[in-house]
Amino acid sequence: MNKDIATPIRTRAILEKHGFSFKKSLGQNFLIDTNILHRIIDHADVTDQTAVIEIGPGIGALTEQLAKRAKKVVAFEIDGRLLPILDDTLSPYSNVEIIHEDVLKADVNAVIQEKMKGIDDIMVVANLPYYVTTPIIMKLLTENLPLRGIVVMLQKEVADRISAEPGTKDYGSLSIAIQYYTTAETVMIVPRTVFVPQPNVDSAVIRLLKRDKPAVKVENESFFFDVVRASFGQRRKTILNNLTTNLLKGKESKAAIEDCLAKANIDPKRRGETLSIEEFGRLSDELYKVIK
Ligand code: SAM
Repeated sequence: MNKDIATPIRTRAILEKHGFSFKKSLGQNFLIDTNILHRIIDHADVTDQTAVIEIGPGIGALTEQLAKRAKKVVAFEIDGRLLPILDDTLSPYSNVEIIHEDVLKADVNAVIQEKMKGIDDIMVVANLPYYVTTPIIMKLLTENLPLRGIVVMLQKEVADRISAEPGTKDYGSLSIAIQYYTTAETVMIVPRTVFVPQPNVDSAVIRLLKRDKPAVKVENESFFFDVVRASFGQRRKTILNNLTTNLLKGKESKAAIEDCLAKANIDPKRRGETLSIEEFGRLSDELYKVIK
């Protein structure tokens, strides 16, 4: 029986056997610590009833541990050079399927419908390529996929922004975009030493559990996100100034925005970073009445 893939010795042997060289541009930092992998999978509550979507299996370190615990694993890998390696390393596991595709271009819903028929519990579990962390998470959340949640490794700095609370320096439009769809929690801080090659940023694992319905009910979702983005345009400016510069322009707009802020019970001198998601919801609905 082979040792686990995620050990320094086995990983080195696999890389040497296949003459593999890392592509930094694809965010290739492979995990070499089985303990960390077990903990990630524990945080995702993966059972033999769970189907897992993995993004970027690399040489299969996480995929192997998922295969041992889940009913099924489907993994998207962009780098064709890894396919023969995965064929080799994952040959003992019959419940794994690799799709050679850029996940950002993939029809993930179609893959779920086709390959995860009859499975109710679907999780995304991955050690993400750091150059595309946010677009991948936003794609998974906005495509209305039937997921229970997402447990992923990413840059600690991005994890801090995603799970930030109002009034903190990390709180911004990314926190709101993700907390609108999920409850977000940083569940692990991970040292650089458990990767080859070591990344030059700190890492964390974040758990996003999908809400039954969005955190606030708003008249128009895309306008709500426009309001949020505009409110954080320049962090030092007040909400009134940011909205006047970035959302509704023109002479009358300032008075209209002041009126909406008053109706939403929000002091115009506050900064965007102090508003809760509910307050943004109220404000966006008032502003929407004006622009409609
Ligand atoms: N899961 C492995 C591990 O933990 O050791 C590898 C993780 S590594 C951080 C990220 C992986 O994502 C690499 O295998 C890389 O080739 C792949 N990747 C990068 N961009 C991708 C994309 N757009 N779609 C799918 N896979 C991608």
